Amino acid sequence: MATTPLNASIRRRGLMLVLSSPSGAGKSTIARNLLESDHAFELSISATTRQRRGSEIDGRHYHFASRREFEIMRDNDELLEWAEVHGNFYATPRAPAERALSEGRDMLFDIDWQGAEQLREKMRADIVSIFILPPSMKELKGRLRRRAEDQDDVIDARLKNARVEIEHWRDYDYVVINEDLDVAFASVQAIVAAERLRRDRRPGLFDFVTGLMDEKLD
Ligand code: ADP
Ligand code: 5GP
Repeated sequence: MATTPLNASIRRRGLMLVLSSPSGAGKSTIARNLLESDHAFELSISATTRQRRGSEIDGRHYHFASRREFEIMRDNDELLEWAEVHGNFYATPRAPAERALSEGRDMLFDIDWQGAEQLREKMRADIVSIFILPPSMKELKGRLRRRAEDQDDVIDARLKNARVEIEHWRDYDYVVINEDLDVAFASVQAIVAAERLRRDRRPGLFDFVTGLMDEKLD
């Protein structure tokens, strides 16, 4: 029977992992891989006023909302952060994130630099942020085209906006260049593993060390 490794059994605070990148650099792919391989993570499902893409499911990829619905959520203080990106509104719903944090669960946020900035202001000690860069702008354009989910004018707008997003790379704890997906993903997993071991994130260590010191040896 599998037993829980001792390191994992020690009580710790939840990790709020923020992934940002210019559109097309691969953050959704990396987020998806992380959610599939690491069941401790829950995805923060954002609300957005953008049109649903063919491959997207309402309630799973985003909560798709009208501008009016979005404004009501914002005015009722139901949003932890919100921003306008590429002409649409995006926001992190407050309740699931606060619940995860209070229950010590890990949450993954796929949000832009404006959202990351707002979360850092509100939950600084709990946020770990990673900025994903493309290997080149040429490859970024190629990935946006190959994804084939957006019209050409939308792709052009996203490429223009990429420079604005990239300018904020210095605000992040870690920067990963997504050239080879497996290598980039392994880097993200290494960051997560190390951050979970941080002393200040593991209040359960006090009891563990007390038990260690009290242990009687024959
Ligand atoms: P983002 O969420 O940052 O907008 P996506 O994760 O949707 O980007 O990735 C954009 C496209 O690039 C997708 O078609 C994805 O399969 C592809 N992609 C992601 N990472 C790589 C990589 N390392 N090499 C080649 N293609 C990639
Ligand atoms: P997309 O339209 O490609 O799904 O996302 C466009 C951009 O909006 C991406 O940079 C994505 O990270 C960002 N985004 C998605 N959800 C949120 C959110 O809840 N808040 C903020 N600030 N940005 C978001």
